[in-house]
Amino acid sequence: MVCDSPLIQNPIKPDVPKICNHVQCQALYKQRLDMSPALYKQHFQRQQQYIIQKKFAEIEKQKHIERVKHAEFDENEIIKKWAEDRLSSRNGRSIKVTQIPTGLEALKPLEAERINEYLQHVQSVIERACEVEDISELLDDQLLATHQSLLLQDARINSNPMLEAEVEKLCGLCRGGCCAAGGNHAYIHAVTVRRLMDGLSVNAGELLDFYQQHLPQFSIVGSCINQTPTGCSLPRQYRSDVCNLYLCEELEEHLAWKESDQAHSEINLVVQRGNTNWNRFEAVEKNPVTCAYLENDEGELMQLAPEILLMPDQPD
Ligand code: SF4
Ligand code: SF4
Repeated sequence: MVCDSPLIQNPIKPDVPKICNHVQCQALYKQRLDMSPALYKQHFQRQQQYIIQKKFAEIEKQKHIERVKHAEFDENEIIKKWAEDRLSSRNGRSIKVTQIPTGLEALKPLEAERINEYLQHVQSVIERACEVEDISELLDDQLLATHQSLLLQDARINSNPMLEAEVEKLCGLCRGGCCAAGGNHAYIHAVTVRRLMDGLSVNAGELLDFYQQHLPQFSIVGSCINQTPTGCSLPRQYRSDVCNLYLCEELEEHLAWKESDQAHSEINLVVQRGNTNWNRFEAVEKNPVTCAYLENDEGELMQLAPEILLMPDQPD
């Protein structure tokens, strides 16, 4: 009734108008109760056009995402075939592809503007943390769920050195493709600092000094203020739950594979592409392959010959 979605009449309530479940369509339909019919008619026409355009844009975006995924998948298959043909001994094992992003690289001395913005952010979350009697006053359902997930994930990874090694290996190759969205806030939250104040008995001034002193001299351009070429400048305890919990989709899938029986009958091929974790679908067609690695019998990743990067579309 509002947008162009195909609608089915509810046979139990034939007198109820047909409206799709889209939240904006539902909201627009309800607004008729708050306006005169003439005003609502105008408002409806304007909003209907906006909703239809927005839905069209969403559909097109989804199609583009699928196109990029397919193009990259097809290219990964070519690289996989290339590797299979050259691998002298696979002992009957097949190859499984793990695609990972790449962290940004360009380095620059930290500008005063970025430092000020970051310190203002840290100062404001410290002030918020000091306002409450107890940390529970800062926690909402989402923050609690994130912390709970972090505890479970830490228990899972810390109890399995193989998973820990895989995280180190792949995140080490990627060099923080997910840190590219950390900006000048680094996800530091009032809960992060309140936990430190309660657990380490540090006061507000000491904490602010700590965060200031741990700012790197040179930081990665366009990424989190704390990201350096060797990783995060903050000790893990001082990072937010978001930072400590986050594993990109590809790494999540890889760890699940590593825990499965399939890992015994497959060899891991890592295809690294030039996108960060956040801009993959900005590519017009696909993101360029920057490196490819094949796992050897010792579990080490061996870089494949660079010619694979030059002619992946036409394997010999
Ligand atoms: S979690 Fe993913 S995006 Fe982040 S550093 Fe590791 S491999 Fe890169
Ligand atoms: S604080 Fe550290 S882990 Fe978090 S986004 Fe910044 S560099 Fe990455």
